[in-house]
Amino acid sequence: MSEIQGKVVIITGASSGLGEATAHRLAKAGAKLVLGARREERLQSLRDDIVEQGGEAIYRVTDVTDREQVEALAEAAKEAYGRIDVLINNAGLMPLSPLDQLKVDEWEQMVDVNIKGVLYGVAAVLPTMREQHAGHIINLSSVAGHVVFPSAAVYCATKYAVKALSEGIRQEGGEEIRSTNISPGAVATELTSTISDEETAKGVNELYEMAIDADAIARAIVYAIEQPGDVDVNELIIRPTKQP
Ligand code: NDP
Repeated sequence: MSEIQGKVVIITGASSGLGEATAHRLAKAGAKLVLGARREERLQSLRDDIVEQGGEAIYRVTDVTDREQVEALAEAAKEAYGRIDVLINNAGLMPLSPLDQLKVDEWEQMVDVNIKGVLYGVAAVLPTMREQHAGHIINLSSVAGHVVFPSAAVYCATKYAVKALSEGIRQEGGEEIRSTNISPGAVATELTSTISDEETAKGVNELYEMAIDADAIARAIVYAIEQPGDVDVNELIIRPTKQP
């Protein structure tokens, strides 16, 4: 039997892109999914697709910038399935722009979703994972958590923070909590649609012509989860071969 069969997996930002692709992969492998994001129609239709294909999933509308909503997502997992095996902190946004434009509202949004959202996720599941003496937290960082790109100072700062947090979870998690930091390069999703600066959007969209499919990242996440319990896959970097 696969190591994924029967595992209860929470995915934030499940309504599109990497979250959605990962939900499909994990459902096929027998996971019980708890899907969170803000757009209810998307979550509903993803849940329906999964169930139609013989999988198990529930959803709960969740804004990860709201601590109580993230706690409620974790509670929904326990109510429906009795435990939480994996949290995939995937929700994120990338409104890139040069610092001089002072798009401070967008900086705050990135800090709120990309960092605080991840922290709220950790806080919502850690006590349950400690009680179970087992759990796995998977964070979506980025190649931008390893290298700073032009017009991406704040986004990169948030993804460096996520990488640091993943390592902290690994160190403090001990034998009970597995920690995986996933760092994708360019992947074709809706992520670039949050860029409000036209010139930056143009440059990024040109770069994203070589983007790979979201399923490439879903496969990496499946790999991390399906390892035996004493194997902790700490870091995966997945780039398109064409990415410089
Ligand atoms: P998408 O834009 O397709 O997906 C982002 C998801 O995050 C959506 O489901 C969105 O759902 C959700 N989200 C955004 N804000 C919130 C919020 N406040 N509360 C809850 N959910 C929220 O992009 P990707 O799939 O590409 O992004 C997933 C992750 O992967 C992000 O963390 C991103 O930084 C990371 N990443 C992506 C790369 C890429 O090239 N695509 C490269 C490296 C990392 P909704 O709007 O319904 O709330």
